Amino acid sequence: MPTHTVINPATEQPVRQVEQTTVEQVDEAIQRAVRAQQHWREVAPADRARLLRRFAELVDACVEELAALETANSGHPVGAARWEAGQVRDVLMYYSAAPERMTGRQIPVPGGLDVTFKEPVGVVGLIVPWNFPMPILSWGMAPAIAAGCTVVAKPAELTPLTAMRIGELALDAGLPEGVFQVLPGKGSVVGQRLVEHPAVRKIVFTGSTEVGTQIMAGCARTVKRLTLELGGKSANIVFADADLDKAAATAPYAVFDNAGQDCCARSRILVEASVLDEFMARLEPAVQRVQVGDPSDAGTEMGPLISAAHRAHVASYVPDGAPVAVRGTVPAGAGFWYPPTVLAPVPADSPAYTEEIFGPVVTVTPFADEADAIAKANDTPYGLSGSIWTSNVGRAIRVARGVETGNLSVNSHSSVRYWTPFGGFKQSGLGRELGPDATDAFTDVKNVFIATD
Ligand code: NAP
Ligand code: MG
Repeated sequence: MPTHTVINPATEQPVRQVEQTTVEQVDEAIQRAVRAQQHWREVAPADRARLLRRFAELVDACVEELAALETANSGHPVGAARWEAGQVRDVLMYYSAAPERMTGRQIPVPGGLDVTFKEPVGVVGLIVPWNFPMPILSWGMAPAIAAGCTVVAKPAELTPLTAMRIGELALDAGLPEGVFQVLPGKGSVVGQRLVEHPAVRKIVFTGSTEVGTQIMAGCARTVKRLTLELGGKSANIVFADADLDKAAATAPYAVFDNAGQDCCARSRILVEASVLDEFMARLEPAVQRVQVGDPSDAGTEMGPLISAAHRAHVASYVPDGAPVAVRGTVPAGAGFWYPPTVLAPVPADSPAYTEEIFGPVVTVTPFADEADAIAKANDTPYGLSGSIWTSNVGRAIRVARGVETGNLSVNSHSSVRYWTPFGGFKQSGLGRELGPDATDAFTDVKNVFIATD
């Protein structure tokens, strides 16, 4: 049985050995999920709701344990990891209301009665990246289960520990065997098999645009339903009429949160040229204030990157001679640390400006006017998130409508709130997760006509 050694990215010490799932075991898990789904979809809506609430309560009771596991596995600051575990609870609780509200329609037709049913699609394969192992797992798992599907989840090879524990909690909560299974292992083995297997009816994939396009092609072979949450290169647009103190004080957290390993990172700061110097003067101390250090310390705001290989990738965007305008500090010694880094000025064709870095590196670029700001924000194949800072309400609305991206915030950097839909425009994704309609992504509409003649 192949194993993977989970490494603590803050200490480079081994945490645990995890057995990798083989292709044969994936097939067995899918068969269990097929059998379980036939039963699960028949469980009364109120009972499915009750089981989801019990699952949420167990997660709530284990927030500290899950947070500590994530801190050890992923290097997330413990405060952030507590929020992530809490998000799993909240998402489960939110979708526990769904089974009793999966209403169809009654459509006026001649000669009879026409009704629609939202039928669960069946077995869902859920492929999760390493950057937010808990939240992203819950965004797919909770609405899928609520909709009457069963879920086979594959965490990232690097970060399986919290997903495995949440899988145990599902069973402890009383979810029938096979409703939610977690299969640790490699993308090229477990992930690929989920995409290939004809009994898997839907894939939910979060990860890189590169792998996402391969998965989309793979799903075509069996016409699998597909949700894709992919990369981003989002803009933080600061107009001259904005509250510059607040815009500059918050800009570091909009990109250095989770050490920049965030698909929603506002990694391109666009500033109206007339206030560029004022903004930079405020940004520098804000970057220096970011607390980088031991993730198990409650005061830590930024931890290490996930791996040595990823740190080398991030560092490649800041070669010798790069225009480093501000650079924070990192702890000495072991750990995959990389300092918060601001690059300015950067040429428009520089990889640091055009590519998703997925690390704590941000560029600052001036713009001339509103039209130029929108053009620069849209000059990317991605379209996931973004922020707009202005005190002019009309401008805020015009720019929000002009930027081609799925999630925008005005005078704030909020992106993912489970009450509201989340997902990408352009090459940042396909479909939406979260919000009131998320269960629709796990159902197919069945139309039934009943003759009255
Ligand atoms: P990744 O390399 O694309 O991997 C994502 C997941 O896919 C992992 O579980 C991976 O398994 C698996 N995988 C890899 N190759 C596969 C294949 N051929 N078939 C099936 N599954 C396969 O992404 P990552 O490096 O983990 O995560 C970073 C990326 O995720 C960034 O681009 C980021 O923007 C994106 N992201 C997007 C969102 C969003 O909501 N839009 C949220 C978070 C992250 P292994 O890890 O075992 O290889
Ligand atoms: Mg990868």
